[in-house]
Amino acid sequence: RDTFDVGSVRGDFPILSEQVNGHPLIWFDNAATTQKPRPVIERISAFYEHENSNIHRAAHELAARATDAYEDARSTVQRFLGAARSEEITFTRGTTEAINLVAQSWGRANLGPGDEILLTNLEHHANIVPWQMVADRTGARIVVAPVDNRGQLDEQRFGELLNSRTKIAAFTQVANATGTVNPVVSMAQMARRAGARVLVDGAQSVPHLAVDLSELDADFFVFSGHKIFGPTGIGAVFIRERVWDETPAWQGGGNMIADVTFERSIYQPPPNKYEAGTGNIADAVGLAEALRYVERIGLHRIAAYEHDLLEYATPRLAAIPGVTLVGTAEHKASVLSFVLAGHEPHEVGTALNEKGIAVRAGHHCAQPILRRLGYEATVRPSFAFYNTYDEIDFFIETVRQIAGA
Ligand code: PMP
Repeated sequence: RDTFDVGSVRGDFPILSEQVNGHPLIWFDNAATTQKPRPVIERISAFYEHENSNIHRAAHELAARATDAYEDARSTVQRFLGAARSEEITFTRGTTEAINLVAQSWGRANLGPGDEILLTNLEHHANIVPWQMVADRTGARIVVAPVDNRGQLDEQRFGELLNSRTKIAAFTQVANATGTVNPVVSMAQMARRAGARVLVDGAQSVPHLAVDLSELDADFFVFSGHKIFGPTGIGAVFIRERVWDETPAWQGGGNMIADVTFERSIYQPPPNKYEAGTGNIADAVGLAEALRYVERIGLHRIAAYEHDLLEYATPRLAAIPGVTLVGTAEHKASVLSFVLAGHEPHEVGTALNEKGIAVRAGHHCAQPILRRLGYEATVRPSFAFYNTYDEIDFFIETVRQIAGA
């Protein structure tokens, strides 16, 4: 295994030099959002300094530059995910909007009374609530594949729950509250064999694992830019060409139409069909820069380094008297959820903040899985490739102090 030059990577992230409460910032809240490297920050500035224009509509130099940059961003996402065509990539505000698009467009057109939407017990609220909304409208029913006490999906039960009424299976690749990695390639295969469509939530996976949509047979794949070192307010939904005809336009307006009269409108083909109005052009361009940055480091190296960080931190945290790890699945990425006896999670979060350590404390927008494991809230440090063993040592020492151990 080659060595990972974390020092040089850290130099790319200006915010990592911040001081918080007299301590160097330790950013362990990567599952909530990630920090941005200088190339991304500079790319967004350069867009506004040299290229800013609306796209497609106007015929002048800056419109051409902005359109080129935006379509190049789309191709970068396509390549990054291993999609066959750039037209399969639609930009959205993020994962949440992407799932709402699929639920409101595909869901309302294809779900009816008695149909089943198969989720897992591990889902973020963003992959639950939109399906409840569409189930209420269509009479479809939500079915939930269970997990064991470690927060690991029962893959066999998942398979057994698939049947001819299952119209879509929607599941996360990496669970944000526990870090559980799901076997999404085989889950997608099982669901496809049962005749269901497949949506994979990649919000927590794309920053940590290499995703290849030529191997992962999902119909829809969604992610957020801000979790992969890109800007907020931008993300994407991959809509595989085979489902274009059954996925109607969602929002209406400019950009998505070919011709409009008061009697009827003719829509553009994808991706414009799904991108009504002026999109988040600058941040799409910033997202592409983030993906290029990650590609330069290499996701396989990132995954290996982060795996080592997690392997290092896990036994040390678990050894602190009063600590209970929440979610101990065999295959995990980035996330360490825990509780400390005698201390509320938010109290632990506040005490860590006093030492400059940023973690999330709460329900992590995933109440069903936390409740399944017996908790209302946990403390959740989550790592990225710019984190270090020294940071973990300081974190472990601080939790020990909080525990009074
Ligand atoms: N799914 C998962 C697994 C997530 O971790 C998150 C973000 N915490 C979301 C969906 C929602 O992403 P966003 O808030 O960026 O839309």
